[in-house]
Amino acid sequence: MAKPQKAIVIGSGVAGLACAIRLAVQGFEVTIYEKNNYPGGKLTHFEQDGYSFDAGPSLFTEPANIEALFALANEPIEPYFQYQTLPISCKYFYEDGTEINAYANNALFAQELATQLGENATTVQRYLQEANELYQHVANIFLHYSLHEFQTLLQAPIAKAIATVKPKHLFKTMHGLNEQCFTHPHTIQLFNRYATYNGSNPYQAPGMLSLIAHLEHNIGSFYPKGGMISITNALFRLAKKKGVCFKFNQKVDSIVHHNGHIQGALLNNELQEAAIVVSNMDVYYTYQHLLDNPIKAKKILRQERSSSALIFYWGINKVFPQLELHNIFFSNHYKAEFDCLFKSKTLHPDPTVYVNITAKCEPGIQAPTGKENWFVMINAPANIGQDWSSLQQQAKQAIITKLNRILSIKLEDLIETESVLDPVTIDQKTASYMGSLYGTSSNSANAAFLRHPNFSKNIKGLYFAGGSVHPGGGIPLCLKSAEIVANMVHKQFS
Ligand SMILES: Cc1cc2nc3c(=O)[nH]c(=O)nc-3n(C[C@H](O)[C@H](O)[C@H](O)COP(=O)(O)OP(=O)(O)OC[C@H]3O[C@@H](n4cnc5c(N)ncnc54)[C@H](O)[C@@H]3O)c2cc1C
Repeated sequence: MAKPQKAIVIGSGVAGLACAIRLAVQGFEVTIYEKNNYPGGKLTHFEQDGYSFDAGPSLFTEPANIEALFALANEPIEPYFQYQTLPISCKYFYEDGTEINAYANNALFAQELATQLGENATTVQRYLQEANELYQHVANIFLHYSLHEFQTLLQAPIAKAIATVKPKHLFKTMHGLNEQCFTHPHTIQLFNRYATYNGSNPYQAPGMLSLIAHLEHNIGSFYPKGGMISITNALFRLAKKKGVCFKFNQKVDSIVHHNGHIQGALLNNELQEAAIVVSNMDVYYTYQHLLDNPIKAKKILRQERSSSALIFYWGINKVFPQLELHNIFFSNHYKAEFDCLFKSKTLHPDPTVYVNITAKCEPGIQAPTGKENWFVMINAPANIGQDWSSLQQQAKQAIITKLNRILSIKLEDLIETESVLDPVTIDQKTASYMGSLYGTSSNSANAAFLRHPNFSKNIKGLYFAGGSVHPGGGIPLCLKSAEIVANMVHKQFS
């Protein structure tokens, strides 16, 4: 029997874990080198004073991507990972007192928008149907194929995609499209918000991104039992079961190649040989530090970075029955908020506040009984050296004032423990350049085509998976990038 070929994965983010599992199933001897002492990258958690906090992602969509990995590995998923469907995807609060329950059932959601905002329920359902079609026929090409390999792309069902796309998806901004579809400013704002799911600006991003609403409103939102960290834990265990070797506290110093072929990775001045190297780290840093190619790194920066975030993790000494797992308290100045994030690169004094409370799904487990774990996030600009400690103080005050106003509470008296994450710490912990959550933004119609491909055109055997490369950031897309890489490797090595 031939000796298995070696594969190295740099980074154990969700895409790194998924890649490792897929390559192990293909028969590679896989080693993941991870600079931190834990797996998961951004998808991690911590505990503080009896409260449990998911540190990064909080919204779980498209569980089918996780199920696909277990099916591929021929392992039953239940012993590793369980999740529940949320009846209400998100609860929205506006400064004028309006409250909207975004029901997972799209007929109920359309009815809610009709009752609360006078929106035409049929229009809402038609919008969601269109999002579904865009997702099936257009997004699926992006999600399953490399856009940078002509041969592969030829196999994609492109004719159907072209037939589905309308001028408004390409030539209108997301805001412009939503303004054309809906009558009430609150509905427009609600659907504009989906641009933030990949760190973009709805006033610049193309109408095509209206397809993101499909995920929550046609498929649904889900809660993984044990919180988001269960995704990392499940993939980590599955990877180990499939023989993947994990090396923690091991920072890769460079990627070694010769005559256009990969040789391996250098750690502590020692070459670890491999037939394949997959970089799961930010592609900018990969070129800048591991490939010593500042010209290529600079080229990546021609694409605008996605937004970052400022997060307060608060242990709250009270239970709020009026809140759901996901809650949004909208800014009254949405356009100005995005101008601050993407133009003046600062925070708006009235930010949109997202509050995630996993204790809603697991009371007494995620937080002590009678208390709640609040993950309070506002969008923040990518880091360009702003004074984050002063912005943090201002943001905390603005958030507390806003939540006190809308919920008629005195939040400052209820916070019994606090931790904070800002763009600088996001960069430090996960090596994400400028603290961007999703690599590059989708603030232009051609952004999807300009993301870095999943392979190197110059170094055979070098691949890229994760939020900073095709098809983009967020857990579902990261998992798709792993699938695209594995398919390419399979073609190259079979
Ligand atoms: C606050 C926050 C909220 C978010 N909310 C959501 C959400 O609700 N839903 C959603 O789907 N997505 C969300 N995202 C985005 C999502 O977390 C990311 O897109 C995804 O987790 C990125 O995974 P990745 O595979 O690209 O790797 P990353 O998580 O970026 O991990 C990369 C790994 O590489 C390691 N590494 C870097 N350099 C080296 C080196 N030289 N040697 C060895 N290891 C190295 C890092 O330590 C890290 O572990 C959020 C992100 C953040 C930060």
